[in-house]
Amino acid sequence: MANNIKRPNGTEDVLPKDVYKWHTIEKIARETAESFGFSEIRIPTFENTDLFMRSVGETTDVVQKEMYTVKAKETEFTLRPEGTAGTIRAMLQNGLLNEALPQKVYYMLSCFRHERPQAGRLREFHQFGIEMAGSSAPSADAEVILLAKTILERLGLNNIELHINSIGCPTCRAKYHEALRAYFEPHKEELCDTCKERLVKNPMRLLDCKSPICKEIGKDAPLILDYLCDGCKDHFDAFKKYLTGFGIEYIVDPKIVRGLDYYTKSVFEFITTEIGAQGTVCAGGRYDGLIEQLGGQHVPALGFGMGFERILLVMDKQGCDFLTPKTCDIYFATMGEAALLKAMELVKGLREFGYRAEYDLMGRGIKPQMKYANKIGAVYTMVIGDDELASGKAKLKDMESGKEIELLLNDKFTANFENEYFNKMLDSMDDETGSLFSFTGEDK
Ligand code: ATP
Ligand code: MG
Repeated sequence: MANNIKRPNGTEDVLPKDVYKWHTIEKIARETAESFGFSEIRIPTFENTDLFMRSVGETTDVVQKEMYTVKAKETEFTLRPEGTAGTIRAMLQNGLLNEALPQKVYYMLSCFRHERPQAGRLREFHQFGIEMAGSSAPSADAEVILLAKTILERLGLNNIELHINSIGCPTCRAKYHEALRAYFEPHKEELCDTCKERLVKNPMRLLDCKSPICKEIGKDAPLILDYLCDGCKDHFDAFKKYLTGFGIEYIVDPKIVRGLDYYTKSVFEFITTEIGAQGTVCAGGRYDGLIEQLGGQHVPALGFGMGFERILLVMDKQGCDFLTPKTCDIYFATMGEAALLKAMELVKGLREFGYRAEYDLMGRGIKPQMKYANKIGAVYTMVIGDDELASGKAKLKDMESGKEIELLLNDKFTANFENEYFNKMLDSMDDETGSLFSFTGEDK
């Protein structure tokens, strides 16, 4: 129908047939983060607009152009454009920073940015992110990189480069800003309007401008690495030493300044060239000043965000493995009311043991019921009619091999089914070697 309402531009539906891909990323990210000692945090979808102005920064693209802000009953709220600000706000508000440090949290959430939709750039996108608060040690920088890298590796991603840089602290930044102003001043009139303002307020943001003209002008701009103070230089050197200690390869890219204002010292991006222009699948860094800026004490912290949609694009492109989508374990095809009642009793028992058990909910005949069982990929089927009820047993059919065995329809049914199912799984495992997901203890 012409008048049907469509989803807004830049948003996506994840359909049941594809959701296993999301489950794969979620499961691997969650389990890996937990093995590094991170715990999940859940925060609101919207926050007071001020929070993002004060953290992400007033001269960033995100705040200037991309925020979804709504006014509700005189108060202004903004849909979170990223996860760090809300997470730090929650840590402060709930006193987590007074507990054992470092605090290590992870989250999976949707973010909202009003950007021009294209492959890998959406208006509602999803991130897996982590934040670690309390450590100023460069080993912490290497640790969060190891976490990101481990997740990407366990997902099976190849050809991802790690680019790192240091953008210093406010002390080195002051000198660097002067150098940038001197460099850009002669080109002031050619810059985009936003960058004209940035030149005055926050010249480093000029290097993050997406406009081709500003990019071209900025290509020989002074590099922050030449302006680092001794403390920041030492931190960067130790960070690189620990990366090497973990056997992690990296490329120092002095052009990375990151799109958000709160970063200090180490910044990094995991980049692929395989999905076009939006190749940054994970990005993050240290933000030692943010917690103080939001009203807390001086607590150094760092973190990263990983874009689910971009990771999916790369996994699809590279033919990575996903966890096998779960299908129906057993479908009961029933004839008559008494058989239906029996099936209802049996599925209840099976479901308590975690099996996906289904039966006819449409009042169909046997043939269409079996057709449906086929469509939903049932591993086993069982037909129950008057004969089966009378004899107290029915045939369990393996839909793949066509093999049938008889099971008693008594209180041992679930246990007997489980036995059969288990043997089938063992047989199929013999056929597969070196399953990618063996370490995750794949769900039944
Ligand atoms: P970009 O330069 O690509 O706009 P960014 O610096 O704005 O990235 P971050 O704020 O660091 O991105 O977000 C972390 C990660 O979230 C990115 O590396 C990317 O994987 C993902 N991401 C950011 N914006 C989008 C978007 N609009 N759509 C899909 N994924 C995104
Ligand atoms: Mg962006």
